[in-house]
Amino acid sequence: MNLSVARCHFPVRGLGYGARTGIWLQGCSIRCAGCIVPETWESRDEHLVSLAALLRATQPWIEASDGVTISGGEPFDQPEGLFALLTAVRALGAGDVLVYSGYPWPMLQREHRAVLELCDVVVSEPYRAPAHAVTPLTGSANQRVHLLTPVARERYTGWQAFSPAASVAVDGADIRLAGVMSRGDVVKLAGSIEAASGRRTRLTHGAL
Ligand code: SF4
Repeated sequence: MNLSVARCHFPVRGLGYGARTGIWLQGCSIRCAGCIVPETWESRDEHLVSLAALLRATQPWIEASDGVTISGGEPFDQPEGLFALLTAVRALGAGDVLVYSGYPWPMLQREHRAVLELCDVVVSEPYRAPAHAVTPLTGSANQRVHLLTPVARERYTGWQAFSPAASVAVDGADIRLAGVMSRGDVVKLAGSIEAASGRRTRLTHGAL
């Protein structure tokens, strides 16, 4: 079993409860106008990683995490791989599993029920630029947060009051920002980091 993977980070804050392992899958067929991570749309051979290798790389992080966040790209464009990944993540005892999707909730319920049964939280719906409205977990006003399990309701009830947070990671010559942030905040933060470090900044996940 191979998955198309963009990158992984630990710890990630601001894309769920606590300190998380973030796994970004590569490839998205939805292609929202205004998407700030268009580099995740195309999936090529160089992005393919075996599930075993992905788990070897992330298992220590997952075991030390409060939860796992899976984003993209569009995770549900790889439904078999996503199912296998979530099954393995569950077996490692991830505290909670949050998955972002740009697909509408009724479609996910109709076509991916088995995958949803492995999720605690799903953030659904495509990014709509005119409805721009950043919250701690969403980036446009149409997006929906679904709390599917008791642990989700325990940890995420009142998620609108979570403190906004972003994680910064060095990735080769780039510095990556991960989090849901307003465009203004990203511009300010990226400018400060670039001025201080001389490195280019790129956004790993955000809904701007
Ligand atoms: S916002 Fe998400 S679903 Fe929409 S095009 Fe970008 S990666 Fe795909």
